Amino acid sequence: MTRKDFLKSLFAAPLLAGAWAKNSLLGQTVGTVCPPWQPGGLDIHHIATGRGNSTLFICPDGTSMMVDAGATSGGLKYTIAPKPDDSRRPGEWLGRYAKRHLQAAGRNEIDYFVLTHLHGDHMGDVVAESPTARLGGYKLTGISDVAEIVPIRRILDRGYPDYSYPVKQEGAAALNYIEFVKAQQKNGAVAEKFRAGSRQQIRLLRKPADFGDFSVRNLAVNGEVWTGVGESTRHHFPALETLARADYPSENMCCLALRLSYGPFDYYTGGDLPSGINDGSAAWKDIESPVARAAGPVEVAILNHHGYTDTTGAEYVRSLRPRAFILMAWDSAHPAISSLQRMYSTTLYPGPRDVYATALKAENKIANKGLANLKSDDGHILVRVSPGGKEFRVLILDNASESDRVKAEFGPFACG
Ligand SMILES: [Zn+2]
Repeated sequence: MTRKDFLKSLFAAPLLAGAWAKNSLLGQTVGTVCPPWQPGGLDIHHIATGRGNSTLFICPDGTSMMVDAGATSGGLKYTIAPKPDDSRRPGEWLGRYAKRHLQAAGRNEIDYFVLTHLHGDHMGDVVAESPTARLGGYKLTGISDVAEIVPIRRILDRGYPDYSYPVKQEGAAALNYIEFVKAQQKNGAVAEKFRAGSRQQIRLLRKPADFGDFSVRNLAVNGEVWTGVGESTRHHFPALETLARADYPSENMCCLALRLSYGPFDYYTGGDLPSGINDGSAAWKDIESPVARAAGPVEVAILNHHGYTDTTGAEYVRSLRPRAFILMAWDSAHPAISSLQRMYSTTLYPGPRDVYATALKAENKIANKGLANLKSDDGHILVRVSPGGKEFRVLILDNASESDRVKAEFGPFACG
């Protein structure tokens, strides 16, 4: 068969398989506008605004999910400049990104918004200039900005309904988020507490029967960790009554984590879960390791806490052993030198692996020479999983504008 005949046979294939094959085998997306999601595929967009974490999932039947929608107010001394620029708020850029990619997939709403924890770089800080929302009662930032642009149907977080574990939320950003959730409920959205161990809380909503090998396992929340058996969990943190208030679990330690699976493809995300390396601190303060063990090996792992020095412990790397690490970064401390060394350590697990970052602060590249090995360090990171989850590719999309132009493409990588 000549190359031309081979290409012709590809285009003659059924639409769904053909569209995937055309994109994956030819690797010709570089320089083009990112081809839209195709039915049966799984797209995971790590959106790079330079202002926090946000990930958009378009699932095989078109069910949509966003995990986090950060808008940190941190100063430029330590962070990169906002992307594409500061003419809009970070949450507006996130909402517009989600709207474009969902519309290309024939959707106009976010079925699930999942908040890992109540910090500004994951839900949005409130600043003096933050405008009041149309619905009133809260300010626009992060996720509340997204909701102005794309309707959100269901909200899952670690604190609903009373937001009181381990202590009542008091920060301005958290109180604003709580008011946002109340307003969304009045507007018809559903809010629920994320349930550790569940494989039912996040489900395909459109054609679940067509994709029986797709699932989302809730791994952990508030220190309650899935045991790996049925939906049972155990408490990793001591009861609060036994602790001095100063030793209560931190907001980061209470993060929720989940594992998304599609056939042989597995994906881990866990907010800012730390491994608690403070010398002499109690063993239970390492919540990263038990959650990583509950997840087991995955193809793609998100770095906890942006690869900061209190994360990416040996057990996290050894248990997840991903083919691709994804780092959502914007700060000069993302990632730590020790974290990067562990990611690349073939003592912790054998075989090839790559690291992709949404951004790197120039000063960190100088301090941390290993960062020269990253596959990419500037742009949205799209993990595109083939129908059935057999393989995935990584596309880097330009974030200097809203062009969605593909800057680089890696893979395909076999799953399993
Ligand atoms: Zn964070």
